[in-house]
Amino acid sequence: MEKLSPGKAVYVVDTTLRDGEQTAGVAFGKDEKLAIARLLDTVGVDQIEVGTPAMGGEEAEAVSMIAAAGLKASIMAWCRATVGDIAAAAACGVDAVEISSPVSDLHLRHKLRLSRATVLVNTITAVAYARKHGLYISVGMEDASRADEEFLLEYIRAVTAAGARRVRYCDTVGILDPLTMAVRIERLRRETGVEIEVHAHNDFGMATANTVAAYQAGACFLGVTANGLGERAGNAALEEVLMFLRHSGDGAGYNLAGVQMLCQYVAAASGRIIPAWKPVVGQAIFHHESGIHADGVLKNPSLYEPYNPADVGLERRIVIGKHSGRAALLHKCRELGLPMNEELLAFAAVGIKRGVLKVKRSLTDDEIRDIIGTVSRV
Ligand SMILES: [Zn+2]
Repeated sequence: MEKLSPGKAVYVVDTTLRDGEQTAGVAFGKDEKLAIARLLDTVGVDQIEVGTPAMGGEEAEAVSMIAAAGLKASIMAWCRATVGDIAAAAACGVDAVEISSPVSDLHLRHKLRLSRATVLVNTITAVAYARKHGLYISVGMEDASRADEEFLLEYIRAVTAAGARRVRYCDTVGILDPLTMAVRIERLRRETGVEIEVHAHNDFGMATANTVAAYQAGACFLGVTANGLGERAGNAALEEVLMFLRHSGDGAGYNLAGVQMLCQYVAAASGRIIPAWKPVVGQAIFHHESGIHADGVLKNPSLYEPYNPADVGLERRIVIGKHSGRAALLHKCRELGLPMNEELLAFAAVGIKRGVLKVKRSLTDDEIRDIIGTVSRV
């Protein structure tokens, strides 16, 4: 039975458990996979691509466990364009399949050594088989961004005529820029009318921007992973795309407050730490140090914060460091209950700068207490 609600303006499709897990050196246990799927469901993603049943063993068990967990999201399995892969997916009880095949001549010649015509026939056969099992079908077009566009149009028309509900446009090696992505998606939408998922890789740091550009050009399925985990430089980050949707007014129905827990769990399970400056979930993105910024935020946070830190489970902190100014220092002293006046302030600022240069980081509250204590006694 299909689980995707029809007629939505946007669908978020998470592939942390498939593409994210394909990151070199990352492997999730089946309990970890189930826990991540539950957290994704809490965030409200529409579809979760959970793995590749044809791998068998624990991978197929994890897919079955997630499909039976009673989640709200549609559960999708990744398949090559073969009857065997789709039979393995159907046996796991998923409601949706991604039937993936390369579409660029580069991949067809050097990887599959198959002609365009053969690949098209294989995909159509696989789609027809999946249809008999009542599965929701997406056809993944690997390396679409380097494929011949006339062939893509022919391919999209043929696979949707066979029963595919949407196609996944993969920028497999992350080479597109947002303007080019928008032009490509707009043309495919205009000429075929088919629903498109964008699946963008981050090799040039463009994955989120390309996903947003594709959405604005008419792709209503947005492929993402938590923390942007994925092959090489990763995929578009779930948390960034959700924040964009909220900011643009299209994010109703997604629970941003849940992304902190999800992203922390995925970081721990994958062994890939979240950089402190990572958009949306980095622990230091609401830390303010430099004089003008700290002073501004203390007067009105919206001067230097695009949204409330609490919205994503983070906290605002005024950090005392090399660039701290008067306002931050006074604020910190008040917070710590330390005596401070105009006379002491200049001495304290010198002591703080000296202390910071010695330890090469911002100061802890205890270090600040020591410095202010020394200055006060002089
Ligand atoms: Zn990918």
